Amino acid sequence: MSANEKQPLVQVKNLCKYFQINRHATLKAVDNMTFDIYKGETVSLVGESGCGKSTTGRCMIKLYQPTKGEVFYDGKDIFKLSHAEKRDFCNKVQMIFQNPYSSLNPRMTVKEIVGEGLKQQGIPQKEIDERVEKLLKMVGLNKDHMSRFPHEFSGGQRQRIGIARALSMEPEFIICDEPISALDVSIQAQVINMLKELQESLGLTYLFIAHDLSVVKYISDRVIVMYLGTMVETAETEELYDHPMHPYTQALLSAIPEADPIKAKANQRIAIKGEIPSPINPKNCCRFAERCQYATERCFKEMPKLHEVSPGHQVACHLT
Ligand code: SF4
Repeated sequence: MSANEKQPLVQVKNLCKYFQINRHATLKAVDNMTFDIYKGETVSLVGESGCGKSTTGRCMIKLYQPTKGEVFYDGKDIFKLSHAEKRDFCNKVQMIFQNPYSSLNPRMTVKEIVGEGLKQQGIPQKEIDERVEKLLKMVGLNKDHMSRFPHEFSGGQRQRIGIARALSMEPEFIICDEPISALDVSIQAQVINMLKELQESLGLTYLFIAHDLSVVKYISDRVIVMYLGTMVETAETEELYDHPMHPYTQALLSAIPEADPIKAKANQRIAIKGEIPSPINPKNCCRFAERCQYATERCFKEMPKLHEVSPGHQVACHLT
């Protein structure tokens, strides 16, 4: 599904999250992010570790209070909800975490982990057991797994348990925070396919957070590329992969291994020089300037604004 005229399910407006390190140092983890997510879509947020994508996700689920900006869910400001609306929001919006090894309580059985939220809602145990069994089936596990503990499972199975736990609340919107990066490559495709199938059968909407562009192509409708707390490019998936405009996106795409030997020969790897700079007190210029092979004097003086280069395709670069 592509972005359309309908009301977005999620609206992020000028979102900023700063952390005050000391009197003179401010870490700008997220700086002026604006984007929408429509019902049934998967929007991927991609960028190197430390670029602010997980912080953005955490603001969107109210784990962090933003420094500036707003997040609307179904038209309502999530930081101004009534008590009843907050409860509803906490059920409708769920998060799947990166590390399936640490996100499950080792002392709880699978039945207790997946049924925890249902228990808090006062649902009778017999009904919880039935629902947990059904949820485990949805993620490719079975009844026999209910009485086991997390350490008895592989990484992929643990992530399935985490997904079943998120689904127990019958959510509409799931923030998948690097859900496959801790898994073996052979298991990654299985989890991605399962997330896609669940999206289709349950009508879910996803924000999919990942650190490279290779994994998100098959699951995303749209992609947002982040660099040092800011959005540098966003477009529908096909457009972004076929016509990347920002030098950072071009470099990320060139790093994806190509299976076809003829295409691989034609592809030139664009190396990004240096390390990602510190997000503490960033200069008011292009944040990619120090690493960009096309940087000009202007890039070190002026911050490029995100602007539309074709319908739905926005880029923040002075050269576009
Ligand atoms: Fe490179 Fe300048 Fe574009 Fe930044 S604005 S990405 S430094 S060309």
